[in-house]
Amino acid sequence: MVDSSTHIERSTVIDGKTIIESTTERVRCSGENNDHPLVYYTIPEEGFVVCGYCDLVFVRKENP
Ligand SMILES: [Zn+2]
Repeated sequence: MVDSSTHIERSTVIDGKTIIESTTERVRCSGENNDHPLVYYTIPEEGFVVCGYCDLVFVRKENP
């Protein structure tokens, strides 16, 4: 599952894709049901990253 200790605020589903908002540029993913190896990604400052295993989409959430 997605680790909720890494400052992930919430997730939404758009067009069948799960979008994870993160306040940090470093995210980690092991699948929604812990179904792939743990991998780390860095979210570009003005962009997003898609998990190569499970297609979760991570986006940066602006800090207020
Ligand atoms: Zn994943």
